[in-house]
Amino acid sequence: MNFAFDNTYARLPDRFHARVSPARVREPRVVKVNRALAELLGLDADRLASADGAQVLAGNTLPEGAESIALAYAGHQFGSFVSQLGDGRAILLGEVVGKDGKRRDIQLKGAGRTPFSRGGDGRAALGPVLREYVVSEAMAALGVPTTRALAAVTTGEPVYREEVLPGAVLTRVAASHIRVGTFQFFAARGDREALATLASYALARHYPEAVGSGNDALALLDRVIAAQAALVARWLGVGFVHGVMNTDNTSISGETIDYGPCAFLDEYDPEKKFSSIDRGGRYAFGNQPGIAQWNMARLAEALLPLLAGDEKEAVRVATERVQSFTGLFVEAHERVLRAKLGLVREEDEDLALAADLLDRLGSNRVDYTVFFRGLCASAADPAADAQVASLFEEPGAFRDWAEAWRRRLAREDVAPEARASAMRGVNPAFIPRNHRIEELIQAAVLRDDFGPFEALVQVLSRPYDDQPEFAHLSEPPQPEERVQYTFCGT
Ligand code: AMP
Ligand code: MG
Repeated sequence: MNFAFDNTYARLPDRFHARVSPARVREPRVVKVNRALAELLGLDADRLASADGAQVLAGNTLPEGAESIALAYAGHQFGSFVSQLGDGRAILLGEVVGKDGKRRDIQLKGAGRTPFSRGGDGRAALGPVLREYVVSEAMAALGVPTTRALAAVTTGEPVYREEVLPGAVLTRVAASHIRVGTFQFFAARGDREALATLASYALARHYPEAVGSGNDALALLDRVIAAQAALVARWLGVGFVHGVMNTDNTSISGETIDYGPCAFLDEYDPEKKFSSIDRGGRYAFGNQPGIAQWNMARLAEALLPLLAGDEKEAVRVATERVQSFTGLFVEAHERVLRAKLGLVREEDEDLALAADLLDRLGSNRVDYTVFFRGLCASAADPAADAQVASLFEEPGAFRDWAEAWRRRLAREDVAPEARASAMRGVNPAFIPRNHRIEELIQAAVLRDDFGPFEALVQVLSRPYDDQPEFAHLSEPPQPEERVQYTFCGT
């Protein structure tokens, strides 16, 4: 198995990680290999899908050049600081530079216990593995920065949660696994040297264009804040609710990471939360920008000793940078919303027009994805308005807003078909609907039937294309299909 590893994180000082080998499992079986991603990484997809490949993907055989490690990190979980978390069930095999020149981590998630496992078994159940596979690949196809899924295998061993479930391993691919919590780990230990090493390493790895300013930590803080602001704006654009935006689940690279109880909105509701453990709604849909900013404040805090020569100045700089998140997010969010509405030029009232629409979607309980896809048709031909208006409990709520929208469109010289086509490129027809994910997990876990999983993966690889043969996968849930809660499943 030729991985062409080129490992750098394993070269960092010992206190950054623990050397650990994946645990052996009984009977690895490949569920899925992501052929396009394998190709990008220079890997032989046929070999990965073979019996030998299954051994590697389950952690039974370490491929040549792998240096398996579990990464140390800390983090704020639901607002409370935990000074030691770390990879408790994920083992990094190493790094590979893809055909696009980008360096990526290859990690086995669910590969057994590590020194960071605390009370956990180091294992993953099939359901959460399939969920992460589908959702992370859907996010990639939607154009949202994200970790990827290279493969899923079953282990042939049970894992014990509330019930006995089939065990599985996900091969996760990420720009890196450095989190806000990685910085907090060293900050909590007063380890200034490690902080500086990590800041310079992360800057060079993720934002090489920003190297050379004279202050790597400050340059990194700026970049991470901008990347997080852009990321959360993209989440809001597709109706994504991460569900556990703890600082240990916040990647420095600006990728979406750690798909647990994540979900997509059906009807628009800024207060919507799905996670069964998020009782207060801390990570509800509309709270995500504020939480991302809070997480950036925790990053700034961790970097404080490196930001300036004296503490007062460091606090001033950190505060200023964290405050800059607001403007960056608003700008990014406006860009997302303008594109969704089919607007090319910028006008001052655009945000008000979008906010008014979102209010109406919320009070009329309109499906977010179906609405915006329908609006593409309305942009091409006002005859489609009747269909879109029928999505509203009070159809007049759409008609009133549409008048203002059309007056705004008239101020731009764009042909209706061209506008509709551009809108179809940002307003997906397909998202990973929660009820479809539940359905595919049930089919796989209860009946060993991976057909629904395959179908959803396939259709979500082209989320912006109408695929009439899969129309049922674009539809919102029937009342009895609605998913009320999602679970970490860890
Ligand atoms: P998460 O909720 O997935 O972000 O995980 C939070 C922390 O719990 C991380 O340190 C994980 O590595 C750890 N963890 C989660 N599930 C397990 C498990 N089954 N075994 C060991 N550690 C786990
Ligand atoms: Mg996590």
